[in-house]
Amino acid sequence: MNETVAIAIDGPSGAGKSSLARRCAAAFGFLYVDTGAIYRTVGLAAYRLGINRKSEAAVAAILPELDISMGYNEAGEQRMFLAGEDVSAAIRTPEISLCASDVSAHPAVRAFLLEMQRKLAQEHNVIMDGRDIGTVVLPEAELKIFLTASPEARAQRRLRELEAKGTPVSFEEVLRDIEYRDRQDSQRAAAPLRAAEDAVRVDTSDIGFEESFQVLCSLIRKRLGLEPAGEKV
Ligand code: C5P
Repeated sequence: MNETVAIAIDGPSGAGKSSLARRCAAAFGFLYVDTGAIYRTVGLAAYRLGINRKSEAAVAAILPELDISMGYNEAGEQRMFLAGEDVSAAIRTPEISLCASDVSAHPAVRAFLLEMQRKLAQEHNVIMDGRDIGTVVLPEAELKIFLTASPEARAQRRLRELEAKGTPVSFEEVLRDIEYRDRQDSQRAAAPLRAAEDAVRVDTSDIGFEESFQVLCSLIRKRLGLEPAGEKV
């Protein structure tokens, strides 16, 4: 019998999934799991090894030796480790975003990471974000949210994040990367990005972070009967 509660948040990159999921997890006392970070770590490993990331055979060949783990620091932030090295910052570059999208298209990679994700949901109450959480990883999740926004709104937000980190990029470059990833993530044969039939769609193009957070809080409240701690909603 499954006694834990799961909330799945899926959607394209830049829709605000991570920051909203993290804030909701803190407010409702759930564990936040960023599955994109796990795919990014595989992407980083493939990049460092210099293998052909488009070849499923080449990527599958590195999986048995791959030493990936995750943990949480004192502030409750998810950290990713590759062979014991904390790569949480290294996986956030635009280049590794594309690598993650390339390797995640391979069924062998998805199968390799499936158990790791399901195990977290068996052991904790989770808010898990990704592309296929509601459709493949946790189809029994108590609440599924499909978070979306226009490509331009998402590129604008991503640009601000990258600028804040001092990464020099142009709006056009960010938009091109987002459109490339959208295409690749939604057209791939293995677990493509799509909303589960029973997912609630939330479009954040024209609403800010606070308003989006309130929308999610009210969905969690209604569906799960939970109240956020220390939040005025
Ligand atoms: O969410 P984030 O942008 O960090 O994810 C990086 C890439 O990992 C995505 O573009 C997508 O290709 C892949 N991904 C995936 N399935 C998930 C999470 C991420 O395929 N559940």
